[in-house]
Amino acid sequence: MMDEKQRRGIGMTSQRTRERLVQRLRNEGIRNESVLAAIGNTPRHLFVDEALSSRAYEDTALPIGAGQTISQPYVVARMTEALVDDGIPNKVLEVGTGSGYQAAILAQLVPEVCTVERIRRLADQAQRRLRQLGYRNVRVRFGDGNAGWDGDGLFDGILVTAAPHGVPPELLEQLADGGRLIAPEGEQGQAQELVCYHRQGEQTTRTCLGLVSFVPMLRGTAG
Ligand code: SAH
Repeated sequence: MMDEKQRRGIGMTSQRTRERLVQRLRNEGIRNESVLAAIGNTPRHLFVDEALSSRAYEDTALPIGAGQTISQPYVVARMTEALVDDGIPNKVLEVGTGSGYQAAILAQLVPEVCTVERIRRLADQAQRRLRQLGYRNVRVRFGDGNAGWDGDGLFDGILVTAAPHGVPPELLEQLADGGRLIAPEGEQGQAQELVCYHRQGEQTTRTCLGLVSFVPMLRGTAG
């Protein structure tokens, strides 16, 4: 396990700095107190390179290697809120593990989290990090998330953290009745729309939650 001092942080990574981020998210309109508490509890500085740890509690995306980024805390909060606001889903799939930060937030809110990453190095690193930090209800897999997560039934929530042009039908098929899928849709470098698909029986509705900017969801695996 990671030592408690490291986890708590000092100076720019201290609990005080973390609380300032939470206050900022509150001011920006995040209302769900459990989501805010999860962000306040999560040592984001341990999900980025040490050289960037002093910037970990700014509300910005940061590089995590392999050309990928850890999402902006506001966007993490917004997406998580959209997923849990109507009741806590039992089992959630995240596509695009990246640093593992979003998975760590989910792990504090829902009983079971599965997350899939197409870059082997990031998947391995995130798995190690989540284990060291004690998040025991997260399973990390290396693979192409376009196919979802095989062999484990349906998900009450799916959160996609890389942008496909349109959400792959295979993913929507893994959404349980009553479930929600949150994803950015569109081209990189252009305005992407954050959308929510809500499955109700035979019907699935699609609503837009605003504009975002994510790295693209690619096909196949790397490494
Ligand atoms: N949720 C992450 C940030 C995601 S960045 C965090 O909290 O840090 C987007 C991630 O999606 C990148 O790591 C990228 O490699 C991954 N990705 C892109 N296409 C993918 C695919 N088809 N399947 C799985 N992961 C994918």
